[in-house]
Amino acid sequence: MLSKLGTALAGWRPSAGRPGDPLTVIRAAWADIVGDDVARAAQPVALTGSALVVITASGAWSHQLSFLEREIIRSVVALGVPQVERLRFRIGTIRAARGAGGRRLVRSAVAGALPAGKPVSADDAVARFRAVVERRRNAHRAAGGAFCATCGGAIATGDRCRPCADGEERGVREQCERILFDAPWLDPEAVITQVDGLTAEAYDRIRRRLLRAWVDELRLARKRHAVKAEIDRIRIRKLASSYVLLETRIDPNRLELDSPVRQNALGDLYAFIREVESGK
Ligand SMILES: [Zn+2]
Repeated sequence: MLSKLGTALAGWRPSAGRPGDPLTVIRAAWADIVGDDVARAAQPVALTGSALVVITASGAWSHQLSFLEREIIRSVVALGVPQVERLRFRIGTIRAARGAGGRRLVRSAVAGALPAGKPVSADDAVARFRAVVERRRNAHRAAGGAFCATCGGAIATGDRCRPCADGEERGVREQCERILFDAPWLDPEAVITQVDGLTAEAYDRIRRRLLRAWVDELRLARKRHAVKAEIDRIRIRKLASSYVLLETRIDPNRLELDSPVRQNALGDLYAFIREVESGK
């Protein structure tokens, strides 16, 4: 991790970055997001996975800014960089906004405005930032705007911002898939009551997609087995059993391994599954 960050930082130059690359986008909007005072003492320098690495002038800045992490991330996500989920602060040297040879760090207006300005304490700068955020939110509310119920971000209308709605949908799908794999014999109603936000239509869609995916995986395993390649027998047995139970919704206690119902559900895969089950 350290070496990765080191490499990222070593490669960083005030003029580096291609337009459209997420870090360049964030840096260009940074002063707008946090305000000039904060931008003078804290700069984003790298994106590693879901973390935006921010160099700050001191531990006090890191500490103060950590209270505004959610607000900053909201703004970054709104720029179209949804992968950022947290900030990682590092104390380091804040480069002058005007680089060598007249090169500019971010956008020209900021580059011109930043180097001047009196040093402000972290407490004051962050308090000012907080006040600006509060003013913005009040104005948004006054203009009839809404706020995302999950992240609190400002949205034009509705109750969730796009990234949160997508994330929620993914969460619902993953939860439903897990239940269908572990307890495929459950009634749809039982699954729907267990997963918050799952509708009957979504359940049907997820179930059909899952059955297709499982059959594909079993077919692939059969191919591998035919050429004596390694297969995960435990997973295949579990898949086959989940597949049959989800397809037929028969009580597992009433289903014999060699029952016609199983044979029928597995179709051309039946012989392969029996082979795996008998350890051949
Ligand atoms: Zn949101």
